[in-house]
Amino acid sequence: MRILVTGGAGFIGSHYVRTLLGTDGPETVTVLDKLTYAGNPANLDTVRGSDRFAFVQGDVCDAGLVGELVAAHDQVVHFAAESHVDRSILGADAFVRTNVVGTQTLLDAALRRRATFVYVSTDEVYGSIAEGSWPETDPLSPNSPYAASKAAGDLLALSYHRTHGLDVRVTRCSNNYGPHHFPEKVIPLFITNLLDGLKVPLYGDGLNVRDWLHVDDHVRGIELVRTAGRPGEVYNIGGGTELSNRELTDLLLEALGADESSIAYVEDRKGHDRRYSVDWSKIEKELGYRPAKDFTTGLAETVDWYRDNRAWWEPLKAGVRAL
Ligand code: NAD
Repeated sequence: MRILVTGGAGFIGSHYVRTLLGTDGPETVTVLDKLTYAGNPANLDTVRGSDRFAFVQGDVCDAGLVGELVAAHDQVVHFAAESHVDRSILGADAFVRTNVVGTQTLLDAALRRRATFVYVSTDEVYGSIAEGSWPETDPLSPNSPYAASKAAGDLLALSYHRTHGLDVRVTRCSNNYGPHHFPEKVIPLFITNLLDGLKVPLYGDGLNVRDWLHVDDHVRGIELVRTAGRPGEVYNIGGGTELSNRELTDLLLEALGADESSIAYVEDRKGHDRRYSVDWSKIEKELGYRPAKDFTTGLAETVDWYRDNRAWWEPLKAGVRAL
């Protein structure tokens, strides 16, 4: 089984590749990654020596390169994306290019090859929900340019199944956390700020709610969908820990020995979705998925990882500040 993993130098993609190659499996993996600011070759250091691993630096919008690569693989697991909502508010151009045009470029190549296509989508495509949780059948109603570009890719992927019968499977997960997470996202940003004795910028009233999913659990969910999911189906993947940003901040302050005085309330993100909540009973019933990582343990391990790996995040953070 030859798998092309796009965006495999990023947070979740690299975790997926390290997990897949960390066991004696039949899979070989080629990572296609443009190495944008979010792609980090160091995330793949532990698998670089494997004879089941290859790395290609390139753009998912490059139809020639994508065509050649997909032709030599059986399956595509598509993580590559511009992934930061705040950046999409500042400018949506790269989001439309990579998340929409890049996805369509990959889908066309997968269609020619008849390769199975796993599209890693997000709960943000559903919009915002005050109560209850979204089943996969709910209509998509994205609000940020990031979410809209992911929804476009998600719907395109499903259209290639419905129109052409391509084996497409879509996963929609909640907020991931864990090691190797780029320090512009809330958990690694807050941890690294607190490690440096800085304040943490909390948006608005801090009452926006997210469901937290450990990256180990997400990767397990994706593997269940890749290996046992049904073509044309969407699977929500949740973590089972809903917290307001204020509650999350309090846990991080406590873990790092800080108090409320380290919070800087800042102007809310434009169009900030209030609450996300996916109903993940479908993947539980069909594929036996359940999140296994308890949030308290997962968060403590994540804090320890950032404490122990300053050399990984310090240069990235300096680069972000210089933007
Ligand atoms: P990330 O930003 O850490 O990594 C994205 C990777 O894609 C980087 O390695 C980057 O270099 C690469 N990339 C970007 N543009 C590219 C292009 N044009 N061609 C090739 N490679 C390109 O993102 P992540 O957090 O690992 O997210 C992975 C996927 O999961 C994304 O599709 C994202 O939308 C989705 N997702 C993430 C979360 C989350 O909480 N992080 C939640 C839901 C869904």
